[in-house]
Amino acid sequence: MRTVILLLIFTSQITFSQSIDSIIYNGSWISMEHLLQKYVQIPSISGNEKKAGEFIKSIARENGLSISDFGSENGNYNFAASLFPLSEKKPNIIFLNHIDVVPEIRLDGTDPYSGEIKKDRVLGRGSIDNKGSALMQLYGIIQYLKSESASNDQYNITFLAVSCEETQCAGGINYVLENHLEELNAVAVIGEGPSELTNLLEGKFKNPIFGISVTHKRSLWLNLELEIKTNGHSSVTPIHYSNQEMVCALNNLTSKKNEIIYNALNINILKTLGSQKKGLEKLILKHPRLFKFLLVPQLRKQPELLSLYTNTITLTEISSNNDSYNILPSKTIAHLDCRLLPETDEKEFLSLIKSRLKNDNVKVMVVESMQESDPTSIETIYFKNLAKSIKSYYPTSEILPLLLPNINDLGAFRAKGILAYASTPVSFSRKEVQSIHNQHESISIQLLYDGAQIHFNYIKKMQNN
Ligand SMILES: [Zn+2]
Repeated sequence: MRTVILLLIFTSQITFSQSIDSIIYNGSWISMEHLLQKYVQIPSISGNEKKAGEFIKSIARENGLSISDFGSENGNYNFAASLFPLSEKKPNIIFLNHIDVVPEIRLDGTDPYSGEIKKDRVLGRGSIDNKGSALMQLYGIIQYLKSESASNDQYNITFLAVSCEETQCAGGINYVLENHLEELNAVAVIGEGPSELTNLLEGKFKNPIFGISVTHKRSLWLNLELEIKTNGHSSVTPIHYSNQEMVCALNNLTSKKNEIIYNALNINILKTLGSQKKGLEKLILKHPRLFKFLLVPQLRKQPELLSLYTNTITLTEISSNNDSYNILPSKTIAHLDCRLLPETDEKEFLSLIKSRLKNDNVKVMVVESMQESDPTSIETIYFKNLAKSIKSYYPTSEILPLLLPNINDLGAFRAKGILAYASTPVSFSRKEVQSIHNQHESISIQLLYDGAQIHFNYIKKMQNN
């Protein structure tokens, strides 16, 4: 019995010492949910980050972090808050987050910036993306600073808050990396990314799966132009005219199904999903090449999943600059947003587009082509400890290295060759994920603490390595 009691005292002490404490705000203690409420209440639509940035920076400073400013105006408000001054040049693990939010949607009279705490949730724009996620990082770091940090720690740990991630303006992460990369001395970066995945997928899974994204698809934006001179009046239909030919060419292009391409990362996704299934489903998913003929039709039914296995071509604009019914324009343009899997050769992809259009008169111009970057290795101590921190909090979980169809600020670090892992290591519900960039964004308070605890565990693991 005595052993049991001792064990209980011992474990309760562990639980206590590992729980996330309040931090200081204006001289008194403040919980995560109440700080998030205040942060959400300061609107910070991209390009208007200064007020919210000053708020969160002052809290980081009041709690003992060392501040470095990387721009102090709207659209260029960025700062680092670190365990040690950057001038100490310790190898730096960066927790990246953004101050800006997407514009609110006001449809039913509710205040998107109320920050209201209702039952067990915090409501409002930014409560997840990215203010809630940023506070998970900040509380994890401050908890470490208060309870564990020592001057001989091998790593610096930095909370890096930047402007306009949502619009990718020049004053945000790109400005920081152009002007302060050396000062940051980053060895690895952790930023917003996938959460627990099975909540978001159809069907039943035995155990939770947490995604950590290590790479992203590259965007390739194309401008298509077709010019055909006509007499300009549409009362007599010419044999060839640009609108008609462009529509045919685009139809040739977009009606073709894009090839399913397997690579090490996306094959592993199927296998990991399979490991959490039973029976026939398990057998098929565990052998994706053998059962490709069965998997392909299933993938094609789910665009989100399909995007991880194909180069996508999306027609985002067709225009001929004409509002008259009876005038025939001579030029038609179209815009394509293409997203390429990491291993795709851009030249080959462009010739595929041209051959599919079946019209040599359509000019294809590259407007923007994202730099190639290698997937971040998972054979690093930074990845392994992140996976361990998640697994020690959710012991039955699987960790799945992922490819994301979209890019965020981590891509800028990857392009500089710095290890970058995208993960918001909590178990969001499907409803929560759907609320991001949408109406009624909200987060469960418990998840704030889960995330902070995992970040805290991660920092401890790294420092004690
Ligand atoms: Zn975001």
